Amino acid sequence: MRKLSDYSRIVDDSEIAGIYRKASNFYGRHIVNFNSTFQGGGVAEILYSLLPLMNDAGLYAEWRTLYGSPDFFMITKKFHNALQGDRINLTEVKRRLYIQASETFSVFNHLNHDCVIVHDPQPLPLVFFYRKKQPWIWRCHIDLSSPRPELWEFLKKFILRYDQVVISHEQYRKADLPVPQRVIPPAIDPLTPKNMDLGEDDVQKYLRKYGVPTDKPLLAQISRFDRHKDPEGVLRVFNKVRECADCRLVLCGSMASDDPEGIKVYEQIERKAGRLIEDKKVILLTVENNILVNALQRTASVIIQKSLKEGFGLTVTEALWKAKPVVASNAGGIPLQIQDGVSGFLLDAKDEDGFADRIVRILENKDLGRRLGAAGREIVRKNYLITRLLSDYMDLLADVMKKV
Ligand code: UDP
Repeated sequence: MRKLSDYSRIVDDSEIAGIYRKASNFYGRHIVNFNSTFQGGGVAEILYSLLPLMNDAGLYAEWRTLYGSPDFFMITKKFHNALQGDRINLTEVKRRLYIQASETFSVFNHLNHDCVIVHDPQPLPLVFFYRKKQPWIWRCHIDLSSPRPELWEFLKKFILRYDQVVISHEQYRKADLPVPQRVIPPAIDPLTPKNMDLGEDDVQKYLRKYGVPTDKPLLAQISRFDRHKDPEGVLRVFNKVRECADCRLVLCGSMASDDPEGIKVYEQIERKAGRLIEDKKVILLTVENNILVNALQRTASVIIQKSLKEGFGLTVTEALWKAKPVVASNAGGIPLQIQDGVSGFLLDAKDEDGFADRIVRILENKDLGRRLGAAGREIVRKNYLITRLLSDYMDLLADVMKKV
């Protein structure tokens, strides 16, 4: 397991020493994190890196996942979409099944921790089913700028019991929520298999193993097959790019166990891409493999992130860290990471001609790609590495725990 001191070759020693000092306020304290999957998506990615470092700093940090039936995850996926603005038919059955999962879970999981951190809406109602004797934090990773009002009102009832809400972007603050709200953007871990340096031999080995040819420039979007990531839009953009440049498109999206819509969206894309898949112009990958993601991000000439909604967009952070030019939509947390024309290109998500134009420009001008990528890596180095996130968490815990 990685230790904080392993990061001393990437960030200043003073930053590492600062975290160890902040953590001394919490020696021996037990912190439990709840989410709904150990694998797939940004939350699992962050917890996997953050918790060992918290433990290294002297805390006891745990991670538990809520069990849920397929119906439960179907409902919570609808909640996820509706929090990001989609319509929802919020029936009594949906409300009941949603709450029941937390109630059942609480019977089998006792808490005697000093602080509880609940990630995203799936385990949000847990707070109803425990006698509160410690601070509870709701950490929402979703784009909360335009939730459906009926769902927001329903969820607010649970959120009011929390001591603190944490969001990824200033724009997600809710004026009608009388609970302290704090912005902490996510971060990536530069030492994980997904982000560590990879030799060219390893890169080629992984791409060969998963059938990705490298004879032509690659465009890639690495994202769950989710309508809000707009894979169909990426395919349309690719068809426009092909009119000017010979290249291939990779859509890589592993299936998260709490995202039952993934298969449906994947099958739609498979149908739409048809012949392009047979000709290997379009390559669809659904394997869960961090080194493959790393290799794809390093090999692609352009990384695309055409999200219609995006909480933060860790895939953008990962690509920028690898100094890749990213062409992305101006959605959610992406503009925190990309300054248009400086550290990548930002476009309106619907502007598919614009996407194609910027991609072709990068394909035709390697220097431009290198310049954008280098600026992007610097932004990540300064703002979005796991050590900064850990330091922010120490400040958060200090605030929340001293109040109780
Ligand atoms: N991811 C992955 N394999 C895939 C697709 C995505 O490991 O095939 C990872 C990706 O590298 C990133 C996370 O899942 O670390 C997605 O986080 P992001 O914030 O981009 O989106 P989310 O899925 O949380 O909406």
